[in-house]
Amino acid sequence: MAQDLQPIHVARRRCAGECPMHNHPRPLTSTVDAPRRDVAGSCPECGAAALSSYRVISEGGWWNVVKCTRCLASASREPAPMFGAFMPLGAPR
Ligand SMILES: [Zn+2]
Repeated sequence: MAQDLQPIHVARRRCAGECPMHNHPRPLTSTVDAPRRDVAGSCPECGAAALSSYRVISEGGWWNVVKCTRCLASASREPAPMFGAFMPLGAPR
């Protein structure tokens, strides 16, 4: 019974390449963040040349957005994969 309460990452180590399960090791940093990519162009609201592309979670799930890093206005917003970076086995693509 106590074995069922172990953290999931401990239970998955037992599979060691024999079962098709995900492996999500603990991050090496104290915080995690999404990578941002600079985008050419200017903000539709404030005009700053400070657009950045990254993934966010918001109402309706994950979104790939291009936002102004100065005023946070959205230049574009498109649906991202249903579970973000996590791809569960058997999930629709
Ligand atoms: Zn702006």
